[in-house]
Amino acid sequence: MLLYILIILFIAYLLFWPKGSSKRKSARTKKDAGPVKLVKDPVCGIYIDEREAIKLRWEGKTYYFCSNECKEKFIHMKKEKVNQA
Ligand SMILES: [Zn+2]
Repeated sequence: MLLYILIILFIAYLLFWPKGSSKRKSARTKKDAGPVKLVKDPVCGIYIDEREAIKLRWEGKTYYFCSNECKEKFIHMKKEKVNQA
């Protein structure tokens, strides 16, 4: 039981300790890279960092996705629409 408590304390220590130092680091990297631009994934509706998003040009518009899975889904949806029309 004591070992169990020690493990939990150790995990908590790992989780909480780097917060203070990473705060300073992220503030600096933010300044270098400029403000983060959030874009919406049209498939699952979540917001993602533009630089990390998967981009797709479709009919002159740029779409952003959180994953390749969402991108594939989007293409599939668009193709289905075209077939229906
Ligand atoms: Zn998504």
